[in-house]
Amino acid sequence: MERIADLHSHALLNMTYMRKDLSKKHKPPLFWNPLRNHLDLPRLEAAGVKLSTFNIYVPFKFPFKSYQEGVHRMADIFLEFMEKNSTRIGHARSFSEIEALNQKGRIAAILAVEGGHILEGRLENLEYLKSLGILYLTLAHFVDNDIVGAAWGSKQGLTGFGKELMKNLPAARILPDVAHTSTRGFYEIFEHYSGPVIFSHGGVRRFCDADRNLSDDQIKMIAQSRGLIGIMLYPWYLKRFSLFGGPELISDTYKHIETLIGPDRICLGTDLDGYIRTVRGVRDVADLPALLERIKKNLGPERVAKLAGENLYNFLKEINF
Ligand SMILES: [Zn+2]
Repeated sequence: MERIADLHSHALLNMTYMRKDLSKKHKPPLFWNPLRNHLDLPRLEAAGVKLSTFNIYVPFKFPFKSYQEGVHRMADIFLEFMEKNSTRIGHARSFSEIEALNQKGRIAAILAVEGGHILEGRLENLEYLKSLGILYLTLAHFVDNDIVGAAWGSKQGLTGFGKELMKNLPAARILPDVAHTSTRGFYEIFEHYSGPVIFSHGGVRRFCDADRNLSDDQIKMIAQSRGLIGIMLYPWYLKRFSLFGGPELISDTYKHIETLIGPDRICLGTDLDGYIRTVRGVRDVADLPALLERIKKNLGPERVAKLAGENLYNFLKEINF
């Protein structure tokens, strides 16, 4: 069975806002039912997930005093969960910690942050993110923020603060994630930052021509930066107006990216528990092995192993995470 690794997921939303105990098994959602969820420890284990990214995403200030307080609260919830379930899963801040956890048969959990608004316009707030060992910061989210324009926003580029931030990311050992950024913002990030760029979750414009997705040129630029592209499980972004598309949407997206940049810089960025609908046949994380089995008919076992996890592992090794 393939080693499964995921670049983007949202268990922390359920753990924080719904106060769910994800050490126990829950039922998968039907459509967008927020009372059910895609991810918990028993189902991650059943799926054979070896590496999972837990995204800290603070959509609203409420019920916190500030976005920063929200980040601290979510990180605490994450760390408490890791502590409580330390025989099964652990927080990894480096590639060697990922390997050590996996060798003990445990899942490695890494942190990332979605939505740069949580910095509240202050570079000092990078320090805490650095101490958590986060892999990347998704600069934008649904609306423009004080860093960059959003794909759903005004289409603006980097702000003055955004340009400052680009200079400071390497020292904090945090990668920029361009998912959700406007097209202009995407190109300006490449002007002000040199190093691997991540696109953590989304699709390609070849099949769904939305600003939220990557054009062929953008795919090539991410590859040139020695970055990584995560394919999400939300059919809406994998094929235009698709709500019920199946596994072929994943293999088609993979193949398109592969024709442009080869097979090594594509991984899964599922966005599970990000209140998405998932491709047909995938009710939750436990269905990932069945999904991979299905797309093997199309891609063959070697490419599926790369997509499922090998590429993400190799990337983390390459960047000396
Ligand atoms: Zn997102």
